[in-house]
Amino acid sequence: MTVRAVVSRASEQPVGRSLSSPVGRLKRVGAHMEELLARLEIRTVQDLLFHLPIRYQDRTRVSPIGALQAGDEAVIEGEVLLTEVRYARRRMLLSRLGDGTGAITLRFFHFSARQQEGLTRGTRLRCYGEVRGGPGKLEMAHPEYRRADAVSERADEPGLTPIYPVTAGLRQSSLRGLIVQALDCSAVASGDGDPLRELLPGEVIARHELGELRAALLYLHRPPPEADLQALLDGSHPMRRRLAFEELLAHQLSLRMLRAGMQHHRAPAFAVPGELRARFLAALPFAPTTAQRRVIDEIEADLRRPHPMQRLVQGDVGSGKTVVAAAAVLQAVEAGCQAAVMAPTELLAEQHYRNIDSWLRPLGIEVIHLAGKSRASARSLALEAVRSGRAAVAVGTHALFQQDVVFAALGLVVVDEQHRFGVHQRLALREKGRDGGRYPHQLIMTATPIPRTLMMTAYADLDCSVIDELPPGRQPVTTVIVPETRRAEVLERVRDVCRRGQQAYWVCTLIEESEALQCQAAQETSELLREVLPDLAVGLLHGRMKPAEKEAVMAAFKGGAIQLLVATTVIEVGVDVPNAGLMIIENAERLGLAQLHQLRGRVGRGSEKSACVLMYHSPLSERGRLRLAALRDTGDGFEIARRDLEMRGPGEILGVRQAGLAQLRAADLVRDQELIPAAGQCAALLLERYPERVGPLVRRWLGDRPRYGAV
Ligand code: ADP
Ligand code: MG
Repeated sequence: MTVRAVVSRASEQPVGRSLSSPVGRLKRVGAHMEELLARLEIRTVQDLLFHLPIRYQDRTRVSPIGALQAGDEAVIEGEVLLTEVRYARRRMLLSRLGDGTGAITLRFFHFSARQQEGLTRGTRLRCYGEVRGGPGKLEMAHPEYRRADAVSERADEPGLTPIYPVTAGLRQSSLRGLIVQALDCSAVASGDGDPLRELLPGEVIARHELGELRAALLYLHRPPPEADLQALLDGSHPMRRRLAFEELLAHQLSLRMLRAGMQHHRAPAFAVPGELRARFLAALPFAPTTAQRRVIDEIEADLRRPHPMQRLVQGDVGSGKTVVAAAAVLQAVEAGCQAAVMAPTELLAEQHYRNIDSWLRPLGIEVIHLAGKSRASARSLALEAVRSGRAAVAVGTHALFQQDVVFAALGLVVVDEQHRFGVHQRLALREKGRDGGRYPHQLIMTATPIPRTLMMTAYADLDCSVIDELPPGRQPVTTVIVPETRRAEVLERVRDVCRRGQQAYWVCTLIEESEALQCQAAQETSELLREVLPDLAVGLLHGRMKPAEKEAVMAAFKGGAIQLLVATTVIEVGVDVPNAGLMIIENAERLGLAQLHQLRGRVGRGSEKSACVLMYHSPLSERGRLRLAALRDTGDGFEIARRDLEMRGPGEILGVRQAGLAQLRAADLVRDQELIPAAGQCAALLLERYPERVGPLVRRWLGDRPRYGAV
């Protein structure tokens, strides 16, 4: 059915529906369709309007078949020359279509007898689809098609055809039809106040030359034939920018509301003299850096207040975040509360446990480690220590927040390497630690610097501290890029470094996400390296080893008994062995910059010169070369994060789990970066002068998604 046919039928009976009606009120929306739409967060007619096209097709012209090339999406028209059912591996229907300039094969794997009859020789068809195959063998698989009764050069569609994000089982054409119905509803004045009313202050619209909301929506759903397709696709079109601005604004508003909401909650105030912290700092073998001191003070001030702290500490790898966390923990303990320290991996949890325990035990404080796989008896002892309040500090992975873990008086949660946990987990954690009307304070630490624009959009509910200084005496890490073919030189280098008394890491990576395969690769590499470097003590560390084995290997490496540690990326976060002076990363081209930077941060922790060798498989793409060069040329995590954001988009920086935020409808965090500060100013203006518009604006874009439940 053509779009126009849907429009005219829909407009016959527009009564009884408005933009705020549930989608079920639309024609052709039954229970099943409702369910499909709900997966796309579409529940009301208005939600359909805010479901924006991801791209457009130009169906305004019919293309001659002779001019088609593989990869084209085209409208063609011609006569059926031959139709047959063929049995290859599967049954399929093949139809040959010609228009005098050339011929093409239409291929259908699913077809009915009726469809087969409709494709008899001599029938004129109009088809739309993607062209595949090579010269002389072009084909379209499952094209959209209909009978064409007269030859015509004009296509069916008067303008560009929008393509929407869909979900399995929902066809483009069905969704398009529903959106046409929604557009019809939007034209009809509705009784309940106009949901598409302008919510941006006139001064903001004028200053940023933003058009009108309703016009922009209409334009994006139905761009006229003369629309600048390129601008629509690359997002620079003023109509899309208008919507992007409002969407970014809505996200910022929702996070600011979330933050304001937290300030109404209560938390235990740790107004203590700070004796424990003073004793801890005095006992350290080094003095905290100025940056560490500043951040410790910022946290201290937060913790003295009777409202939950929500603070993010950013500090490059090796900047000394653990000391800062320990200082915060001690403030909680001195006030008689417990603290939970959460790490993303077992390995890191073990290391934190060892560090924190060694610092706190001399102060008479009991720290326990709740490992994911500890023996039942050990676990129940640890649980009892936490429940009774005897253990003031518990360290672990997210296993800390399992149902059976009950704290006597949890007052502070420290989350290390937060980007791996994600926004949703952060909110879930907040709820989990809640005790009646009281929330624990939250301290989140990340080594992945978050560019300011991203901070404003994704983390606007957090206060932020930055440790912008490394401890003195650190040597910058020299980074080199080497093809895999020069492995022999790399081995020589490993031998050299170890002969000088330093230690080395050899990191194995794979494309496959499969942990099993990664571990296998590390296993094989370690065997190989043992053969070619027989005079070195080679160790192996991967995620599938038992916690006790891992601990033993780490202890041996730390103690110097292992000279070369072959590992998977489990060592990415936090592992701290100052005597390690060389890191080899295999298949470096496959990892994100942020991840490579993290890995590299494992060396350069002592006072000796250190190096990192990025080994790649040829050929290296131009983009790949640029990425590795970026890493070689700078050791500044913030600069690397900025380039990563440019090259790979926010998903990489935020981590896969945070993809939720990347699902913006109109905006793109990279492309629309320069709108973000403007949207931030506008958010402040609205909160101050037009607070009644905030709720409608947030709901318009975010609906009632759970993460914004507090709005
Ligand atoms: P990260 O910020 O990457 O988590 P860590 O907390 O693991 O860094 O600290 C890295 C190393 O630096 C540790 O060995 C730690 O003891 C040491 N360190 C921390 N602060 C200082 C300091 N002010 N001076 C010297 N060494 C420090
Ligand atoms: Mg750390």
